[in-house]
Amino acid sequence: MALAALMAKQGDAVTVFERHPFVGGRCSAFKRDGFTVDFGVHMFSRGNSGPHGEVARRVFADLKWITRDPSCRVMGKTDFNFPLNINPLHRQIYLARKLNVAPRNYWGVFRLFRTLMSAREIAKHDPVLLKDFISGFTNDPAVHLFVNCVCQLYFAISYLEASAGEFMWCFSRMFKNAAFGYPRGGCGRIPESFRDALVKSGGEVKLNQSVDRIVIDKNCVSGIIAQSGFFPADMVVSNVGLERTIALAGADWFGDKYLEPTKHLSYSNPYLTIKYALDYPIIHYPVVFYMPALPSQHVFDYVKKQKVPEDPYIFMPVPSNMDPSLAPPGKQLVIAGTAAPKGASDELCHSILDSVHRKICSLFPEFSKTILWEMRTTRMDVGKLTLHPVGEAIGIAQTPSQVGNLRPHHLTPVEGLYLVGADAGARGIGTEMASASALSLADALAK
Ligand SMILES: Cc1cc2nc3c(=O)[nH]c(=O)nc-3n(C[C@H](O)[C@H](O)[C@H](O)COP(=O)(O)OP(=O)(O)OC[C@H]3O[C@@H](n4cnc5c(N)ncnc54)[C@H](O)[C@@H]3O)c2cc1C
Repeated sequence: MALAALMAKQGDAVTVFERHPFVGGRCSAFKRDGFTVDFGVHMFSRGNSGPHGEVARRVFADLKWITRDPSCRVMGKTDFNFPLNINPLHRQIYLARKLNVAPRNYWGVFRLFRTLMSAREIAKHDPVLLKDFISGFTNDPAVHLFVNCVCQLYFAISYLEASAGEFMWCFSRMFKNAAFGYPRGGCGRIPESFRDALVKSGGEVKLNQSVDRIVIDKNCVSGIIAQSGFFPADMVVSNVGLERTIALAGADWFGDKYLEPTKHLSYSNPYLTIKYALDYPIIHYPVVFYMPALPSQHVFDYVKKQKVPEDPYIFMPVPSNMDPSLAPPGKQLVIAGTAAPKGASDELCHSILDSVHRKICSLFPEFSKTILWEMRTTRMDVGKLTLHPVGEAIGIAQTPSQVGNLRPHHLTPVEGLYLVGADAGARGIGTEMASASALSLADALAK
């Protein structure tokens, strides 16, 4: 939706085909009993300062952001408020103390922080595993646990798998910008505000129109076939991911050299969620970030072993504390999420969510008494939305072999066929990577 709005603003005639009756995909929202509920479990690391803000400014979208300071409550073995801005040295000392970093490790930890924030030589660090990078500065267990949990939050993979360069890129921007936030009106406002800008520029959105085929003639795109027939086009831009784009267009057009690496793509973990409508507010933080009381190396073992976590990692925004209009007066909306194994069965997904629910009830003893209703989403729901059965939260995993120059490019071997979205041509976190991808493709096409 970001790319469509940007291209329409640049003067192109744009039509978006969306198979659902709503826009936004994984970043959409729905209404229930007066609550506006995110489909996923969403917060935005760079808020208005990041790519969503940049798209909005370029297309004059009506998108307003909310930040809170402190931005988050960290819970677990330690329990403290995380400040919005951790750039001043005294805030870093506060964090080191609150995370229970051993004083003898302070020097290594401050060097680590300075290096992460410098964002220098990202490409050099792309091939390095995040865990190894961190170990080059400190073996402090509290720091390893914190970075591993933040990594799962950013990329939906553990720090044993993630690229250090990509983490450094995201961490430096998030904390330099100090704009961690949430859009007024819920996460669905991001794609909806871009859609409104698209329509104002003369573009069109066709809902309930699944693209069944990308039509190619002599290695050049000629249009798409959707439910209501053939639509000619000089250019087709796909955000359904590389694998599914190839399937829609027909693999024969791409050539073995292009296809070979696409056979070995790995994806991020799915995220499971529970949405809670509460009768009255009992959580006073904008976000709760629960770090399990487990050794850092083993926090996400359950993902590899396809088990229920001993102590679940939980990311829990309280959207109605950011924007009270998301819940009826006097009520509260809470959304809890955790990472899940890729092939997790429905039964395993629910057992993992049961453990999340138990943990929340132990952190907030009154919690269960306040629940009006709850609703769960599993990897199957995400798979139904994206038509990619893995149900990955983010997209192609941000591992050393799939970031930077090695991430799929916008260009494909087929003339006029381009890729956009979280799976193509950009860095960042989830939706922000998708908007950054739109900005870089729009700029390239404008040239
Ligand atoms: C539970 C969960 C939590 C998350 N948390 C965060 C977070 O906190 N912060 C963050 O930034 N990101 C988060 N993400 C990740 C983020 O939502 C995704 O990375 C991002 O939305 C991907 O955008 P996209 O445009 O690349 O793909 P999608 O959102 O998957 O969009 C693809 C669109 O294409 C449509 N489509 C598919 N096939 C067809 C077809 N054949 N014809 C027509 N239309 C089709 C789909 O309906 C969909 O609208 C989370 C995701 C999930 C699931």
